[in-house]
Amino acid sequence: ARDLIKIYRMGTVDVHALRGVDVDLREGELVVLLGPSGSGKSTLLNILGGLDRPTSGSVMFRDREIDMNNERTLNLYRRNHVGFVFQFYNLIPSLTARENVALVTEIARDPMPPSRALAMVGLGDRLDHFPAQLSGGEQQRVAIARAIAKRPDLLLCDEPTGALDSKTGVLVLDAILRINRELGTTTALITHNAVIAEIANRVLYFADGRIVETRLNSGQRAPSELAW
Ligand code: ATP
Ligand code: MG
Repeated sequence: ARDLIKIYRMGTVDVHALRGVDVDLREGELVVLLGPSGSGKSTLLNILGGLDRPTSGSVMFRDREIDMNNERTLNLYRRNHVGFVFQFYNLIPSLTARENVALVTEIARDPMPPSRALAMVGLGDRLDHFPAQLSGGEQQRVAIARAIAKRPDLLLCDEPTGALDSKTGVLVLDAILRINRELGTTTALITHNAVIAEIANRVLYFADGRIVETRLNSGQRAPSELAW
């Protein structure tokens, strides 16, 4: 993305959420977006995933600019190329784990079987459980399976462990890392937590609507080595 600016107009007040952001996600890498509350992390992720539009600036996907004003283009981009995971899992309570994932695979171009996606996140033995019968970490892993079952090129995670304790969060991060490595899915993950950022190939530091520092992480660490 190039020179992204996002201004939210709230009545007479302008909120500058992004003040000129350039970012390149390289194929297969795991990037962590780190920074204080209100610094623009979610705004950037939502724009990269086609959930929101910038006030100005451009988003390219594989050397082609995405026409952010074309609703159909945005819908197709989101549907075919992007998987989102949020802090709260947004599962449908009346559907089993397998059925929650199947909702997405039914409309995907080249999906994997829901049971395979669930096995990848360590839930091969929870296929017929309903959300209320699963722990928070397990529900989040169902949400991850749902996001990856369509084999997206980009997996965008907005504080996926924000609602979880450290031990449960490790299992969620393990699942994300496994997908990044085994499927080669380019992944961007938002966190408040500098310890979690150790799993990244690269860390982008946000402050006040800008990326103020980029750090390559040569000593990428396994989630199980982290404590927070
Ligand atoms: P957090 O870590 O708390 O999630 P963040 O880095 O993700 O913060 P954003 O959600 O991107 O921050 O918000 C950046 C700025 O834009 C904030 O000042 C926020 O209040 C504002 N903002 C975000 N979304 C909207 C919106 N829909 N309408 C108006 N202002 C918004
Ligand atoms: Mg946010």
